[in-house]
Amino acid sequence: MTTPLYYVNALPHVGSAYPTMAADTLARYYRLRGRDVLLVTGTDEHGQKIQQTAEEQGKSPQVHCDEIAPEFDRLWQLLNIHYDRFIRTTNPRHELIVKEFFMRVYEKGDIYRDFYEGPYCVQCEEYKDAKELLEGDLCPIHLKPVETNREENYFFALSKYQQTLETYFEQNPDFIQPDVRRNEVLGWVKEGLRDFPISRSSVTWGIPLPVDQAQTIYVWFDALLGYISALLGPNQTPSLDNAIAEWWPVDLHLIGKDILRFHAVYWPAMLLSAGLPLPKKIFGHGYLTKDGRKMGKSLGNTLDPFDLVERYGSDAVRYYFLKELEFGRDGDFAESRFVNTLNADLANDFGNLLNRTLRMASKYCEGIVPAVQTDEDLSALAAQVIEPTAQAYEKLAFSHACESALSLVRRGNKYLDEKAPWTLYKNQDQAGVERVIYCVLESVRIAAILLAPVIPGMSRGVYQQLGFSPETWNQINWEETVWGKLPPGQTLSLGEPLFPRIDP
Ligand SMILES: [Zn+2]
Repeated sequence: MTTPLYYVNALPHVGSAYPTMAADTLARYYRLRGRDVLLVTGTDEHGQKIQQTAEEQGKSPQVHCDEIAPEFDRLWQLLNIHYDRFIRTTNPRHELIVKEFFMRVYEKGDIYRDFYEGPYCVQCEEYKDAKELLEGDLCPIHLKPVETNREENYFFALSKYQQTLETYFEQNPDFIQPDVRRNEVLGWVKEGLRDFPISRSSVTWGIPLPVDQAQTIYVWFDALLGYISALLGPNQTPSLDNAIAEWWPVDLHLIGKDILRFHAVYWPAMLLSAGLPLPKKIFGHGYLTKDGRKMGKSLGNTLDPFDLVERYGSDAVRYYFLKELEFGRDGDFAESRFVNTLNADLANDFGNLLNRTLRMASKYCEGIVPAVQTDEDLSALAAQVIEPTAQAYEKLAFSHACESALSLVRRGNKYLDEKAPWTLYKNQDQAGVERVIYCVLESVRIAAILLAPVIPGMSRGVYQQLGFSPETWNQINWEETVWGKLPPGQTLSLGEPLFPRIDP
């Protein structure tokens, strides 16, 4: 699966962090299920906008890219993103793949020379249809004036694939998700697909055309191929056949809806032309707003992911975006809601349940796990939430996955209050005390696995406090969600609360 390859014109923002956290969560889920996962991320580094940004700062484009690309990696480390490949489109091996791909499409007869004139948004790196512009000839996405470009370019014969794509979309209703995005794409295709220029004569910061050194390859035609060049093993000779041998086609391209057209229309047509299999699924998530308003530097309304993760930690940031927003739809960030959600779910419901039960175990059970016990209600609920949680992850319904796992924790809290082991202890019902403590700790353990894809740090902490070794956690898998895997006699490790309340 892939995240978008992020454009390095500026430092990573929260809009880049969001799909990357989602992709990492999904990758972690499938690793728990024992699947071989290759999570690809990276940076898109060519094009006019980068050239301009670098010039404005008096740097060469390569120096600019070399400064920005590691910042993405630094953010991924902070956010506990476990990716497998990080591809930069200025990598010389990628360049070879792009050129080979270009020649395949060229030899197929799908590339020809022609003049193009039209409104161009430098921010989008895309020619626009006059009719989609806003009043004053503004790009509808960037709200900035477009330029009018006229130049002789090489065109890709997208229109040739109109019928094939229509049929493909019809026969593969899950290809583009969610449905609102699929319908958008079907609308574009129905309007009629037009050939588009895939080279630029005015842009020098790009890969030269193999057939015409005076032009560079359009940044999107280049960047999309990063998904394929990323698949090359470190010792493989860079060729298309080697790159696609093991991992292609990709199961999932996870993208933002602003780059839907490139992924859902251009990319499949390019692949068809080159005779390569199509991705299995493309999922387009929504836009993020802050306090109900569009985010942007020009709007003075940004949210710095570095700042957020440094203040609250990676689990907090991951949890908020995946639990509080419905993936696939537009979502909002508000700091008060952020604090409230984390305090309610992670500090109170989850963290505190573990902490107070461990304290009781220390007081009433000498700090060791009592013998395996079962409470019919609690163990039945644990068994019931596993499958819906799994299904929610597989549908990328991260919010539902969290809710489902959390319902077990909430029931555990109620159970503890109802059974009141402190009263049982006073009444010298030691068997009763041990039963309650075992059942609650076991519920917390199961919830930790269910939530591990979203909050890996906290889940690992739960396992540590339950007395497991780090090796056990590193080898954890989904089968361990079965009731009764908390070993009796294991020494518990009462520590600081795993998620301290945030003071609003
Ligand atoms: Zn634009």
